[in-house]
Amino acid sequence: MLEQTVKSELIALLGDRFSDEPEILTCYAYDSFLEESMPDAVIFPKTTDEVAKIMALANRAKVPVTARGAGTSVCGAPIAADHGIVLCFSKMDKIMEVNTADRYVVVQPGVINGDLQKVLAPSGFFFPPDPGSMNFSTIGGNVALNAGGPRCLKYGVTKDYVLGMQVVLASGKVVRFGSKNIKDVTGYNFTSLFCGSEGTLGMVTEVTLKVIARPETTQTLLVTFADLDSTARAVSDIIGSGILPVSMELLDKMTINAIEDAVHMGLPREAGGTLLIEVDGSREACDRERSQIVHKVKEHNVMAVEEAKDEADRNRLWAARRAAYGVFAKIAPDILSEDVTVPVSKVPEMIRRIYQITEKYNLKAGVLAHAGDGNMHPLICADRKNQEEWKLVKKAFREIFVAGAELEGTLSGEHGIGLAKAEFLPLVMDQESRDFMACIKKAVDPNNILNPGKFV
Ligand SMILES: Cc1cc2nc3c(=O)[nH]c(=O)nc-3n(C[C@H](O)[C@H](O)[C@H](O)COP(=O)(O)OP(=O)(O)OC[C@H]3O[C@@H](n4cnc5c(N)ncnc54)[C@H](O)[C@@H]3O)c2cc1C
Repeated sequence: MLEQTVKSELIALLGDRFSDEPEILTCYAYDSFLEESMPDAVIFPKTTDEVAKIMALANRAKVPVTARGAGTSVCGAPIAADHGIVLCFSKMDKIMEVNTADRYVVVQPGVINGDLQKVLAPSGFFFPPDPGSMNFSTIGGNVALNAGGPRCLKYGVTKDYVLGMQVVLASGKVVRFGSKNIKDVTGYNFTSLFCGSEGTLGMVTEVTLKVIARPETTQTLLVTFADLDSTARAVSDIIGSGILPVSMELLDKMTINAIEDAVHMGLPREAGGTLLIEVDGSREACDRERSQIVHKVKEHNVMAVEEAKDEADRNRLWAARRAAYGVFAKIAPDILSEDVTVPVSKVPEMIRRIYQITEKYNLKAGVLAHAGDGNMHPLICADRKNQEEWKLVKKAFREIFVAGAELEGTLSGEHGIGLAKAEFLPLVMDQESRDFMACIKKAVDPNNILNPGKFV
């Protein structure tokens, strides 16, 4: 529970943008992962100045503060593990400047990624990071989790587009990193440090993002393979030959059938695996890359290559891909999804290992992947109430992470660490490296009030 003096000061500052009613707190106790922890209060600041005052107060009273965007994290990152205050950025949602001549936009952290895309569309520019949650996740959350998405294979992840930011530190001091310049190597690269920091280093209250011109055209292919191994080998073969599509999204048989059972998108049920491949650029470049890809996939047990006929057809294929998470909810009450990532040449081996592990424990599992960048999402469907089964799910994921580390991979390609993977950090970071990370945390947040209980 918050001390009465802290509560009174927050109410004096924020009025009805403070709540400690249990019904409201419950809504901020969870994200899209499986754990829950009730905060003592949730607050909705509207300005950087308010955030600064809140942080100064929390630091003095040593109350934990956990930032929150839309709560769509799948790793428990915005869960207030040590209770305290949830600071929700949903009311700081202004697009402050759009400057396509200089290729940047300035936004508040609560702006929804998809809303920014809509505002940019008429200008012919776009912001490439496109997490599956883009229509409901915020730029602040995208930055703090360094979000990726299907088109990040060609265009890179959120950190590649952050030019500058304003941050409120734990002390309440307001600092600025980076600038509005496309090129800027002045001082330490603090913007990158804050990307992926999961709200453990400061509150991001404004972000300057690079935007780029939309390519002339896009072509979309759905390639169907007889078996999953051929699907995975085609991915590493295409990338290894120097072709860089925008996206290469892999679905396995279980995922294809889960989508067809739930939403009937016309995917080939008989396939062992599919790749949704997209190329973009000039018409000439697209035609050339498409024929190189078709040539390559024919070496890999291919059953069919279908090209999207028009925009409606393309939207159908992407709608099927984007449905992939939700449809698993029809199979079992709980779904644990991870994002182990390996060098692309090791995707076939990693997929084989995921299957060996889940089959060993007799678990229902599917694999979908942003396969072109080695980012795999094994999904295990189970029932948490069945404790024996749940223990096996946990065991399987540990083994999947160990296998990923053995293949020189990493714990997360885009979802972050949060509560979900903190215990696995030693698999991919040695003690000295973790100590260095803790040193940085201690220097900027000596009272450990920023999202405590997470990976640092
Ligand atoms: C259906 C679905 C599909 C998804 N697909 C993808 C995908 O393709 N790629 C991908 O990368 N992720 C994906 N995700 C995960 C998630 O949507 C992203 O990580 C997203 O970036 C989280 O944004 P959010 O606004 O919901 O942030 P939240 O979940 O609210 O918070 C995430 C983290 O950011 C911190 N934070 C939030 N705002 C700030 C701020 N202003 N300052 C400092 N810290 C802050 C929080 O403390 C927390 O640690 C998906 C999730 C779902 C449910």
